[in-house]
Amino acid sequence: MKIYNDFFGEFGGRYVPEVLRPPLDALEAAFLAAMGDPAFLAELESIRRDYIGRPTPLLFASNATREIGGAQIYVKLEGLANTGAHKINNAAGQGLLAKRMGKRRVIAETGAGQHGVASAAMCAKLGLDCTVYMGEVDIRRQRPNVFWMELYGAKVVPVTGGSRTLKDAVNEAMRDWAGSFADTHYLLGSALGPSPFPDMVREFQSVIGRETQAQARERGLDVAALVACVGGGSNAIGFFAPFIESSEPRLIGVEAGGRGAGRGNNAARMSGEGALGVVQGYKSLFLMDEDGQLLPTHSVSAGLDYPGIGPQLASLGRTGRVEFTSVGDLEAIEALRFFAREEGIVFALESAHAGAHALRLARELPKERAIVVNMSGRGDKDLFIAARALDPDAWARFLGEEAASYGR
Ligand SMILES: *Cc1c(COP(=O)(O)O)cnc(C)c1O
Repeated sequence: MKIYNDFFGEFGGRYVPEVLRPPLDALEAAFLAAMGDPAFLAELESIRRDYIGRPTPLLFASNATREIGGAQIYVKLEGLANTGAHKINNAAGQGLLAKRMGKRRVIAETGAGQHGVASAAMCAKLGLDCTVYMGEVDIRRQRPNVFWMELYGAKVVPVTGGSRTLKDAVNEAMRDWAGSFADTHYLLGSALGPSPFPDMVREFQSVIGRETQAQARERGLDVAALVACVGGGSNAIGFFAPFIESSEPRLIGVEAGGRGAGRGNNAARMSGEGALGVVQGYKSLFLMDEDGQLLPTHSVSAGLDYPGIGPQLASLGRTGRVEFTSVGDLEAIEALRFFAREEGIVFALESAHAGAHALRLARELPKERAIVVNMSGRGDKDLFIAARALDPDAWARFLGEEAASYGR
């Protein structure tokens, strides 16, 4: 596969102010050189093995399969990676690249805080300064992740402009980078943004797909479909990457169906009403109004409510190689509970969207076939949301007593 594409069909590109061209050119050159350098690849491999804990297992969900009675359900356990999700794969690759480029400082944007946590942890390990831009609203909503980032030694900077959420944090990070790239790397968190980020993030995440391919072969699985949730698209494109050029297996992206149809109720771009636009440096499909303003979105999972989608997935959706569907809040929470009960694993709410669709699909397919679902993260981070949904009274009592014990 070609590593560097610039455009994927009509999507992608590099729509940035002049001042950001030199750092993006330099990044592209450094990335291509690094990917051809055995010393860099060996260092990345050692971080993956000893720090992230790769390869992550491929679990046969035997109880879930028996319960559903159709195709075999396998789960790629990315949630067992250090820091609890796939985001560390990208942070590791870009962190090492930043060091190789002689940068001493890393900046990152974060919405729910997962990418901020992965970046902060990786920077701690690699001895890099880390600044994370985060909307003021998100800081309030995601206090636990702010705590973890600061524990890892990162500086979390509140963004007070616009809607004070992820897209404003991206703007702020870009602004920082335009003035700081001499000593700073911008560690973007998903497979989107101006080129070369979509290619770079896919390459660093494609370790998920390569491991899955080897693990499935080793067991002689007849894989009918791979299923992954899609926020910006990094876990999905990394999971799908080794299979894109062939016609099998089916590749299925699951978007957030939220509360159902209607503007503001979901984050369905491919399976909903995404429109062509150029936002934050790249051309893709976005949830926008008639004036091109990004629309508010909703999902129970904070990682799936981004209004845009990575350009390569948008393109693969257009050509039909990747199919898109959506799963709503309630079905995702039900899948989270189902896998916890049946398999003793707790999906992150994002990943539970993929889990829910895998269950639908397993019902339709024969027992000889296999479905592999990517559990992009584990659900520990979703304790507050899951407990509020599934056990509200006892949880409210606990929180009340906990707050009272502080005596303030
Ligand atoms: C951030 C996140 C996602 C969504 O991001 P992608 O770039 O679409 O992968 C999905 N799952 C988890 C666990 C996440 O933390």
